[in-house]
Amino acid sequence: MSDRLIEERGFGYAFDPKACEECGGKCCTGESGKIWVSVQKIPEIAAFLGMKSEEFINEYLEKSGYRFTLKEKMVVKGEYDCIFFDRLLGRCTIYPVRPMQCRTFPFWDYFKDHEEELRNECPGIL
Ligand code: SF4
Ligand code: SF4
Repeated sequence: MSDRLIEERGFGYAFDPKACEECGGKCCTGESGKIWVSVQKIPEIAAFLGMKSEEFINEYLEKSGYRFTLKEKMVVKGEYDCIFFDRLLGRCTIYPVRPMQCRTFPFWDYFKDHEEELRNECPGIL
């Protein structure tokens, strides 16, 4: 992982990827949420896992409306981990092929107006 600060045009903060090593994956755990997976991304993640797309969909995805989201594992009541988060290792097990939503975190348009919420969640925000 890069040890350089990441900045994106239009965002009032920078991100330090080194923070992820100590953090324990707060963005992959916590309250239940949607982790969208595009239809185009399905074959890539499935291949990474050595699975057929159909198997991958059945095992790891849920339908939400007309879209797919990653399943979650309940840790305790009200607390969930993404199905691909490994608590022992403290990291994502599909990191090289993770969905776009994970890849673009923490630079989501939503956080332009909710920076405080992001700062409370992610220790890498500067
Ligand atoms: S919450 Fe921030 S620091 Fe923690 S793993 Fe996610 S991106 Fe990295
Ligand atoms: S796919 Fe990986 S990066 Fe995305 S939420 Fe799940 S564990 Fe985290």
